[in-house]
Amino acid sequence: MKKQDGVKWAVKNIGKRLDVDKKYGSQCADFVIAFTKEHWGVHPTGNAKDFINFKFPKGFQVIKGKNQIPQPGDIFVFGGEYGHTGIVTEANGKYFNSIDQNYYNESLTKGSPAAFVEDHEYTNFIGVIRPPYEDAEKGASKKSTKIETINHTINYNMAKRSGSVKGVVIHNTAGNSSAKQDYNILRNASVARYEAGIAHYYIDRHTVWRAIDTYSVAWHTASPDGNNGYIGYEVNESMNASNKDFMANEQATFKKAATDMLYYGLPVNRSTVRLHCEFVPTACPHRSMTLHAGWNPVTQGAAPLSVVNQLKDYFIKEIKKYYNDPSLKAGSPASNDVADRTTIPTEKQKAKPAKKKGTKKVNGYKKNKWGILYKAEKGTFTCKATQGIVTRYTGPSIHNPVAGALEYNQSVNYSEIQDYEGYIWISWKVHSGKTVYMPIGKSNGKGNRVGSAWGTFS
Ligand SMILES: [Zn+2]
Repeated sequence: MKKQDGVKWAVKNIGKRLDVDKKYGSQCADFVIAFTKEHWGVHPTGNAKDFINFKFPKGFQVIKGKNQIPQPGDIFVFGGEYGHTGIVTEANGKYFNSIDQNYYNESLTKGSPAAFVEDHEYTNFIGVIRPPYEDAEKGASKKSTKIETINHTINYNMAKRSGSVKGVVIHNTAGNSSAKQDYNILRNASVARYEAGIAHYYIDRHTVWRAIDTYSVAWHTASPDGNNGYIGYEVNESMNASNKDFMANEQATFKKAATDMLYYGLPVNRSTVRLHCEFVPTACPHRSMTLHAGWNPVTQGAAPLSVVNQLKDYFIKEIKKYYNDPSLKAGSPASNDVADRTTIPTEKQKAKPAKKKGTKKVNGYKKNKWGILYKAEKGTFTCKATQGIVTRYTGPSIHNPVAGALEYNQSVNYSEIQDYEGYIWISWKVHSGKTVYMPIGKSNGKGNRVGSAWGTFS
């Protein structure tokens, strides 16, 4: 028996209630006893915390203390009044994942079913029991099997969600930053920067940064329903990673989405797995769509429903892999089937989509094929947002690269206005000759502002 067989046994029993002693329901200890009894005929006794001092037969290793990283298949032990125990699926120096009974909705009398638990901390950790697997490490190991998780949220309190979570929205950042770089850039950014778009997670193949806890709203879809009801995941590096690396970033995202969906008890289907472009006109998620549905929304404009569904079905299939087996490692491409075509739009392709010839007229605006409403209009705007407003290059989108910011009481002369992604935008040329775009308030998607502007016009 190998360590992965131990993990597989735990996965197989997710959702079940194992009660070996027929006392107090499905306690955490029952799960571990059922495991060691079934495979090695060993029945540790006492509370979970006592397992660390139980005399296991030859072949078992008991490795005490915090100076180690538990390995997949290890039985971890926590101290405390009764302690806690379960089977490790992956771990790094800061957190570990496991499958435990009686962790969520714990009850001293009834227990609770086995569940996948992500990101246990080591506070109460007192060691592991390592069964005699054929491929077991000898003694304390420092080998990390889990990608880095940063659970340090942004320095701003978002409102708590009202009602329940409806699903997940997978975004592409349309940027070059890694998840860790975004953590450094965004955790102490201004409210105006957050107003211009912030998701719950930023993810690549090395790091999962939880920017906002999932009980709170994130401003990731520019739609009240999307922001309140859905958890937002940004797949990082969509403008610079190779196809292979970007797909690995996606895989880490699918795993995170799957474990959140497990946690919230959500099914994985077209109603729960959503795209940003279903909420408002946007090219997001541009890279995933180009890769997996063969449609580049940056050069081809808004995708037809068939393309949207094709991409959603791909996301659903991939999320289900981790949903059905949350012990699978994140951060590697799904298969060797990596497209060798170019899927990153060039700067030229991304540049100034709002200047393209429109075909339809809406409310005095022209509408281009990306769904951006635009019209020429000259005026002066003075920023009255105390934290300033972030400006963007390439087009009116919260996914475009940050150009700078207009500070409180600064004014600009703009020459065009747009409606896109739920905001009214203004744009103007800066000294470099580039055009910058800045949201000045929320929109109704028909060219009208909703609520007050973030400044004054003259
Ligand atoms: Zn998006």
